[in-house]
Amino acid sequence: DAAIEIRNLVKRYAPPKGGEAKVALDGIDLTIPRGSIFGLLGPNGAGKSTTINILAGLVNKTSGGVRIWGFDIDRNPRNARASIGIVPQELVFDAFFTPAEMMEVQAGLYGVPKADRRTEELLKAVRLWDKRDAYSRTLSGGMKRRLLVAKAMVHNPPVLVLDEPTAGVDIELRQQLWDYVRELHARGTTIVLTTHYLEEAEELCDTIAIINHGRVLCCEPTQDLLARI
Ligand code: ADP
Ligand code: ADP
Repeated sequence: DAAIEIRNLVKRYAPPKGGEAKVALDGIDLTIPRGSIFGLLGPNGAGKSTTINILAGLVNKTSGGVRIWGFDIDRNPRNARASIGIVPQELVFDAFFTPAEMMEVQAGLYGVPKADRRTEELLKAVRLWDKRDAYSRTLSGGMKRRLLVAKAMVHNPPVLVLDEPTAGVDIELRQQLWDYVRELHARGTTIVLTTHYLEEAEELCDTIAIINHGRVLCCEPTQDLLARI
């Protein structure tokens, strides 16, 4: 089985009053192998976030099929969601909660038994253990991004998906994030990330799919793609 299999995925957003429906995904087909670091590359508006948000259960697809770790998201949503961790693009947090508290809430949400919780290990891995009791409003953008990565890993999913992980992030933090992503990959996690920077996909990913206007233009090993352009 693939890590993620997407078949003829279509998303039409409801039209604004008096407007036309927006076709965000126009028949996406993708097979993301287990064990890969896979880059979804494309310009703004290509449909990257929509694809990720469907995987995350945040957006309902119009039609098509999606399997995560072999589990169909319609027929087997519990197993599908247990198999994937999502790092969203937006840094939205409740200002009155701390990293330690958010990790516990997330673990509860995913039904991780108390004995199996890894708040300390995960917050240390993203270098936020010192900030575990700080209110989230006091965290920098980079810290929030790292907290989102730690949160996405609470249930130890085999697949981690990051939506534009380094958007608006400085060079030093970008390097740190990449290092951590590489480390997770080395330990066996399948990684999927979206980016609109070719250099980022090139540096990190073994396979790259280019999407535009809601369609897959190509999907191939990074070295083959680079040899062509
Ligand atoms: P990016 O290209 O960085 O993914 P977008 O500008 O496409 O960012 O979208 C940012 C957010 O705004 C997303 O959460 C998306 O769902 C939402 N959004 C984008 N376009 C529209 C739109 N036309 N109407 C309503 N929401 C939108
Ligand atoms: P990307 O992440 O590649 O920038 P998105 O998936 O955010 O692309 O957007 C794909 C298309 O769908 C864009 O044209 C965007 O404006 C539109 N879109 C995204 N979110 C919404 C939304 N919530 N409502 C309406 N249109 C949207």
